[in-house]
Amino acid sequence: MPNKVWKLGIIGWPLGYSLSPLMHRAALKAAGLEGTYDEIKVKPEELGNWLQTEAPKLDGFNVTMPHKAAVWEHISKHGEFGQPFPDLVRDIGAVNTVQVRDGKLIGTNTDGPGFLAPFERSGAFRDKNVLLLGAGGAARAIAVYLVQSEQVGSLKIWNRNPEKARELAERTAKLRRSCRVEAVRDLRSVPVERMALIVNATPTGMNKHEESPVDCGLLLKGQVVYDIVYDPLETRLIHGARKQGCTVIRGDQMLAGQAAAAFEIWTDVPAAKVLPAMRKALDAHFAAAA
Ligand code: NAP
Repeated sequence: MPNKVWKLGIIGWPLGYSLSPLMHRAALKAAGLEGTYDEIKVKPEELGNWLQTEAPKLDGFNVTMPHKAAVWEHISKHGEFGQPFPDLVRDIGAVNTVQVRDGKLIGTNTDGPGFLAPFERSGAFRDKNVLLLGAGGAARAIAVYLVQSEQVGSLKIWNRNPEKARELAERTAKLRRSCRVEAVRDLRSVPVERMALIVNATPTGMNKHEESPVDCGLLLKGQVVYDIVYDPLETRLIHGARKQGCTVIRGDQMLAGQAAAAFEIWTDVPAAKVLPAMRKALDAHFAAAA
C-alpha cells in the first residue's frame, strides 16, 4: 500500500504572513511523513461553501483570523467538537484546529494545551493566584484551561473593555465553583505581588514603543510572567520581568505548543516528538528576523 500523503493547511483571510506552514512542514519532515501544508485564502463570504465542499478533501487544517468563531459556529451545527475536552471547546467559542474524519469536521482549540506546554508538569499553578490580561479569543482559551485543567486557586481577569472581562469571568466561574474567578476593572487595584502567574493575552507589546501592560516595578523574583505576544519576542513586559528576576515565558513557546498539539490531533504523532523540530524552525526564523 502506498504511503499516506497528508493534506494539511491553514485557512484565513487575508492570511498575511503565518508561521504555521514553517512549523508544520518541519513537523512532517521530523515525523518522516509525506504531505503538504498549504496556505488557503478563504474570504468570509465563501467560508460556508468552502467548509462544505473543500474542507472534506483535506486531512486537517488550522483556522486563523477572522474565521475562528465562524468555524466554531459551523461545527456546532454540522460537525462535532473534539476529544479529549469537547466541552472546553464549546466553552471557548473558537476553533483553531479541525480534523477531517470520514468527511466530517471535528473542531478543537489547541491554544489552551499550547499555553500550558511550557510548564514542566500539569498542576504547576494548582491553588495559586493568577492574573490574566485580555478577554479575546486567546484569553478565553487560556482562562478555560487555567481553571479546568490547571485548577488554579483564583483567577483575576482584566480587559480594556470591562464588560468582556465580566462576561468571561462569569462563564469561566461556572466551570469549577471552587476557583475564585473575578473581573477587575482597575488594574491598579490588583495586588500584583501576590500573583504566582501573570499572563498577557492582549496585543500590548506588539508595538515596541508601547508601555508594559503591568508596572514591572511591582514584579518580584519567583513570579512567572507569560507574554503570549511573539512579535516581537522580547516585549517590554518580558524585558522588565526578567530584570526583576521573574521566570519569563515568551509567546513563541505557546505558538509551538499549539502547533504541536494540532499536529498530534491530525497524525497521532505525539506532540513531544515534533515539538523540537517546530521550535528549531521557529528559532531559525526569529534569529534571521532579528
Ligand atoms: P482578539 O481575539 O482580537 O482579542 C484581543 C484582546 O486584546 C481583547 O481582549 C482586546 O480588548 C485586547 N486589546 C486589543 N488591543 C488592546 C490594547 N491596545 N490595549 C489593551 N488591550 C487590548 O485577539 P487574540 O486572538 O486573543 O490575540 C491576542 C494576542 O495574542 C495577539 O497579539 C496575538 O498575536 C497573540 N496570540 C498569540 C498566540 C501564541 O500562540 N503565542 C496565540 C493566539 C494569540 P477589547 O475587548 O477591549 O478590545
